Formats: sequence, C-alpha cells, structure tokens
Amino acid sequence: MREYLSWGRVLKYQHEIRRLFWLTDDLPFLGMTEKSVLPFAYGRSYGDVCLNKDGILLDTTGLNRFKAFDADRGILSCEAGVSLADILDLIVPLGWFLPVTPGTKFVSVGGAIANDVHGKNHHVVGTFGNHVLRFELFRSDGKRYLCSPEENVELFEATIGGMGLTGLITWAEIQLKPIHSVNMDVENIKFYNLEEFFSISKESDEKFEYTVAWLDCLTRGEAMGRGIFMRGNHTPGSSMSLRRKAEAVKKPKFSVPFAAPNLLLNRLTMQTFNNLYFRKQLSKVTKSKIHYDPFFYPLDAVGGWNKLYGNRGFFQYQFVLPEKNAHGLKEILQLITESGMGSLLAVLKKCGAKTSRGLISFPMEGVTLALDFPNNGLKTRELLRHLDKKVLEFGGRTNPSKDATTDASYFQEFYPQWKQFSKYCDPKFSSSFWRRVMGNEAN
Ligand SMILES: Cc1cc2nc3c(=O)[nH]c(=O)nc-3n(C[C@H](O)[C@H](O)[C@H](O)COP(=O)(O)OP(=O)(O)OC[C@H]3O[C@@H](n4cnc5c(N)ncnc54)[C@H](O)[C@@H]3O)c2cc1C
Repeated sequence: MREYLSWGRVLKYQHEIRRLFWLTDDLPFLGMTEKSVLPFAYGRSYGDVCLNKDGILLDTTGLNRFKAFDADRGILSCEAGVSLADILDLIVPLGWFLPVTPGTKFVSVGGAIANDVHGKNHHVVGTFGNHVLRFELFRSDGKRYLCSPEENVELFEATIGGMGLTGLITWAEIQLKPIHSVNMDVENIKFYNLEEFFSISKESDEKFEYTVAWLDCLTRGEAMGRGIFMRGNHTPGSSMSLRRKAEAVKKPKFSVPFAAPNLLLNRLTMQTFNNLYFRKQLSKVTKSKIHYDPFFYPLDAVGGWNKLYGNRGFFQYQFVLPEKNAHGLKEILQLITESGMGSLLAVLKKCGAKTSRGLISFPMEGVTLALDFPNNGLKTRELLRHLDKKVLEFGGRTNPSKDATTDASYFQEFYPQWKQFSKYCDPKFSSSFWRRVMGNEAN
C-alpha cells in the first residue's frame, strides 16, 4: 500500500498500485480482487476524482508511447499515459498544436479525455473530447471496445468526462490543429469591474482564439471584480521558423522543494501580491509576442507550486454559471471577497456554446471562475458549501476535476444526468469522488 495524493494535497489516501506498461496487458487481477480500481495518471486533478481510498490505482504513466502520426492531416494516435508535454515536443516542430489544452501540459491524454478538459479557446472549439476521433476502452469484462462517434457511441460519450469510471482508456486518436509559428500575439487589458470584463470578453471572443482573465478575488468595495484580461492568437507566419524555435520550456525554471510554512500564503501576502500584480501593468493595454509555453502554461514554470500552500494543502473551486444567469457571478464574488479566503490564482472565462460530447462533462455556455482556497479546515469547507448553494441557485455546477467537498445532494442536482451516466460505469471501477457524490460516506 502506498500513499497517493492529488494536486490540492488535502486528500492523501493509501492505495494498492498496479503499474501498467503494455497496451495488451489484460489485467488478470481484476477478477481476483474484491477491491475496486481506478486509472491514475499524473494526479493533476485537485480533489479526489483521481483517488480511490484503500482501493487499487492503475498507474498509466508507463503507457507512454506514440502509435502513429499522420503529419499531413494532423492525426495523432498514442497510448493514454502520453503527456501533453511530450505531444507538444513532437508536433510543434511539424506545424501542429493541441486542439485544446488545460493550464498545465503535465497531464495525460487519458486524463484529458476522462475529465474532458477545457482551455482558453473553449468559446471557439469546445472541450478536448470534441477533438477525440476514437479510443480503445478496456473494461473488467475483459473486452476491448473501440469507441468513436460511429462505434460504441454511448460508451464513447460516457467515457469523455467519465472520470475514469467507465473503464481504462488504453490509447486514443486525436485531431490536432495547424500552426505556423511557436509564438503567440498577446494583449493584456486591465479591467476595473465585472461589467468591463463582460464587455471586453464579448468583443474579444470574436477576434481572439484564446481568452482568459486573472481576477483579484481579495479586493472589496469599489475595486471588487478588477483584473487583467489576456487574449491571444497564434502568430501567423512561415512554418520554416517552427523547427528552430520549437524548443519549449521542458523543465520548470524553479521547483518548490518542500511544503512551505503555512504562514507564507496568508491574507496579507496574498493581498500584497494581488496589488502588485494589478499595478505592474502600467498602461490599460499591453501588446506582446511570446512563446506559446509561458502563454499557456505560466504555472508549469514553478515545479511543485502546489507545495506553496503548506502541509495543509488547498482546495481549488471551479464553477460555471449559465449565460442567462451570468449576473450571479457578482453575488458569488462578493461572498468570496467578504470571506477574505480567496487566493492569488483566480481565473475567469466565458465558455462558448459548443456542447461537449461527454455525457457528464463540466462546461456549459456561460461564465466560469476557478480559484484556490488555502485549506483552513472547517471554515473553508463551510464557505465552499455556501458557494455550492449559490451556484445551484443560479443553475450552475462545479467541476469534478477540481472538487473535493461537494456532497451527494448538490452533485446530483448539478448533474441530473448522473443516473444515465452510472449505467455505463464499469462495476469494478470506482473512486473516492464517486462514492462521495453517490452518498457513500466511507469514501
Ligand atoms: C496547474 C493546473 C492547471 C489546470 N488547468 C486546467 C484547465 O485549464 N482546464 C481543465 O479542464 N482542467 C485543468 N486542470 C485540471 C487537469 O487538466 C485535469 O485534472 C486532468 O484530467 C489531469 O490529468 P492527469 O493526466 O493528471 O490525470 P489524473 O489527475 O491522474 O486523473 C484524472 C482523471 O482521469 C482518469 N484517467 C486518467 N487516465 C485514464 C485512462 N487511461 N483511462 C480512463 N481514465 C483515466 C482518472 O481516473 C481520473 O478520474 C488543471 C490542473 C492543474 C494542476
């Protein structure tokens, strides 16, 4: 048994670990154990969606080989444990890019499908699952199912965003997007309140493929809702320059060696950071050309940044509100700023109308906010419960890949399709998250 934890470092559970190395492995132990199993890749999920307390984790990081790459059509086939970082190393010099990427490249293809991740271009192209052409799913009945929009369609849709509960994805084929430069043309715009955010967002979503905003979640009163809007496009240009410049930042420039003292990120230091960050940009708008790596993955530059929150760890809370209730954001933000518990990293984004293929995927057309809360025990949990209540009132939902606290009654209201989804769950697969949101307390 070994302790495995997720990115928020709050939940740490003992697991039996089975490392997978070969696509053809048939996992004979599935029939010989009473324990449930769950795929686990790089553990970049914040809560317990990647944990299976006292059960078995199928470590997929050994499934890390490319299978085929059609460089003319941008179709890549690889094992499920291949990371997005490895894919970028291969494809960028050849003029291709990921169709969708989350804010870290250290996630696996299997994890990106199972959490149906979204990125800064959600308003244009939807989620990762919308770009998956097919994958193989291994289930505990010993069978391998080829899933695509044409074949085993229901399993395909349940597995996209299916949180690892429908079986093990062994390999997947994805459609990439062409690029002509490793650089991005980027604009940063200061905004002073949420109304301004919505108006910049509206104007930007038509002209920019990537949009996102950093929001100051600590400042109250007049300045509440201020932040910096970032928007960008891949730089047009000659693909000749790609090979020479594609060298991405392979290793973090700096790594946090151990969990920081809990005092490091207190209210004062965080407020000071937010003030400095907001004021650092002197003019209203700045324009620059930067490499794609710092544009998409600024946090990856600091290895193990999650340890900055100390031994108690932190919660990340992400919710989305439907377009018609986007005004609810103000009330929720007020709750957060008044609590004084929000943190440095608050990310605000409009989500687009393209529906996810996944049966139980998180995004919906509207506005999403993701932010960190240092773990201060009961106080933090109470705030998060209060936020769940508000999110539900406004017809929104929380993101399972970040969640560590939402209880069964809220989850089942956020995702009324859970009953239909559960028909496709593999009877041998389970997670601490799923047991929690199904109301099984001993998770
Ligand atoms: C800094 C940072 C930024 C992030 N930004 C974003 C963002 O912008 N957008 C976003 O959507 N998410 C974001 N995330 C969350 C992250 O993208 C997801 O949690 C992702 O799924 C993690 O992938 P992983 O490979 O680490 O998988 P894990 O965290 O190890 O597992 C995630 C889930 O996938 C399942 N799974 C993994 N492999 C397989 C497989 N082979 N077959 C079946 N199921 C499998 C697991 O069972 C689990 O349920 C961010 C996370 C971090 C740390």
